[in-house]
Amino acid sequence: MKTSGYAAGSLLTVADLPMDEVAAILAATERIERMAGADRARMLAGRRIALLFYESSTRTRTSFELAAKSLGAITTLVSDKSSSIEKGESLKDTGLTLRALGAECIILRHANSGAPYLLAKATGLPVLNAGDGMHEHPSQALLDLRTILTRVPGLNTRRIDAKTLAGVTVVITGDILHSRVARSNAMLLPKLGAKVLLCGPKELLPEDALGLGFVGNTGSVEIERDFDKALKKAQVAMMLRIQRERLAGLELDVADYIVRYQLNEERLMGSAPDTVVMHPGPMIRGLEIAGEVADAPNSAIEDQVRHGLAVRTALLVRALGLGGFESVTS
Ligand code: ASP
Repeated sequence: MKTSGYAAGSLLTVADLPMDEVAAILAATERIERMAGADRARMLAGRRIALLFYESSTRTRTSFELAAKSLGAITTLVSDKSSSIEKGESLKDTGLTLRALGAECIILRHANSGAPYLLAKATGLPVLNAGDGMHEHPSQALLDLRTILTRVPGLNTRRIDAKTLAGVTVVITGDILHSRVARSNAMLLPKLGAKVLLCGPKELLPEDALGLGFVGNTGSVEIERDFDKALKKAQVAMMLRIQRERLAGLELDVADYIVRYQLNEERLMGSAPDTVVMHPGPMIRGLEIAGEVADAPNSAIEDQVRHGLAVRTALLVRALGLGGFESVTS
């Protein structure tokens, strides 16, 4: 799916995000982070941003909202549980209503893959994809990238190009099939030279689970079903939740899954003592990740949340244009 033809500043996918845009987003993130609170609060003062959430969210929703508020914007939250969406109003009509109310940008989470494209087309507004079904979670991939850049030692974080993550292997383990986080990361990180190893049982990781043939990844995304073998190669271990809401009748032997794929202390210390541990949340402690690993010094899970807030400020400034984005990237 292509982004061209949608309002400038939209972020619908990472698939066609050029490297200079990735670099500009990271540079803007840093500049905004270093600004005094009062200066930051003038950047989007009085601008109207709508958060439209058809699926539950803690981190993504809160961080977009706090990011918008820190820039001085006015935010409103519309959720499927307490709005006319419950009465059957379509996504298009909800979007047009928000536009008529003055929304200048919509942040959308939706259970259907592709919904942000429909909304962007119907409203002509910049839309930020906050997770669409099993498709993509672009802002998560960007915050994960920033986390990797700050946590993996020896990287030249000043130069964002096709070699920045050369030599870095990121092992993504768990429910790959249903994960928009896995897809966005498996598309973004190899653009910077990382190798992505996908790990999990056949039920959750069929061959070409992510359909990456479509986006032209070549050789930089591979499958390794043996978790311990994969971990031995990992600079980063990204764990995923089993998405019960999307299993659609698929049966999984959870006890067997835990034995083969849980990241626990013994496994971490035995196979990957220096590996950075990541998880997009929500975590199910005791299932895909043991509590002591989530809390270990290797864990970058809270860093991910902090980077999420920072990266989303840049995405909002970018979405609302005004030339402000250029001034914070240079
Ligand atoms: N929070 C992530 C998402 O919305 C991962 C998850 O839900 O497991 O895709």
